[in-house]
Amino acid sequence: MIRHPVTLPELRRRIEAEAPGWIRRATRRTEKFRKAGKYGEASNIWSEIKAVYMRLQSFKCAYCERRLASEDFGGAIEHDLEHYRPKGAVPAWPSAQIASERGISYRFATGDAFPDGYYLLAYHPFNYATACKKCNSPLKSSFFPVAGPRGSGSDDPAALQTEKPFLLYPIGDLDEDDPEEVLTFDGVIPVPKVPRGPRHRRARVTIDFFELDQREELWRGRAEVIVALFIALWVQQNNTDEKARTVADRAATTLLSSASAHTNCARSFRELYRRDPLRAEEIADRAQAYLDSHSP
Ligand SMILES: [Zn+2]
Repeated sequence: MIRHPVTLPELRRRIEAEAPGWIRRATRRTEKFRKAGKYGEASNIWSEIKAVYMRLQSFKCAYCERRLASEDFGGAIEHDLEHYRPKGAVPAWPSAQIASERGISYRFATGDAFPDGYYLLAYHPFNYATACKKCNSPLKSSFFPVAGPRGSGSDDPAALQTEKPFLLYPIGDLDEDDPEEVLTFDGVIPVPKVPRGPRHRRARVTIDFFELDQREELWRGRAEVIVALFIALWVQQNNTDEKARTVADRAATTLLSSASAHTNCARSFRELYRRDPLRAEEIADRAQAYLDSHSP
């Protein structure tokens, strides 16, 4: 996961450019929910602005960093516009079933259920992100684990930071923690960047919540990035042929850019390569062996 920088005014400007009048209509709907004291409407209007988030996130899932289809040829169906804070009732996470099936047990609290839900945030631009179907539906569902007390009745996500959410929010700088300061990678496996404290716990919960260390499609995608990046970094460092080095420079730049899949994994691998090239080579070998053994 990486941060996708944007300010709230800029996000609102992009939303208005995508769907003129959307913010006014969204505000009216929010006022209805405020009067009713809950979320409820026959049909929603957030899909009108989904493309704003798809482009902002370079067509990647906000949580697992898989690259999904672009907008052409109906590619938008691969992306779900997801509410970071659920608009309806929030069950406690992990549920007894999830805890037992996935062997999750923490020494810290992850928040009670919240039956009211965050209905005033159903239409807040800083409460959206696009996610892949796997991250959004079975995993994120309507959960929202927190370390602090649930904030209720607020229509401002900035005021709700006292909840100390466990899940990272990568859009803009609303979340004080940059995902790359919280999550890093040991090869293809995501790990907490710091050994203890609140950021360590956020990393642990985010990894467990989205099964970021368990999903085969993610291992494979990251292994492909590591193998390609290792070759590029090795050529940059060791090859004396100018043309080869130019090609390697360009490949490395692309693989490390925020527009490519699994950027955090790629950047973590580059750090390792600088720090400990022998260990990086070992990891690249293992990544290649993984790809070899999982090829049809
Ligand atoms: Zn995902």
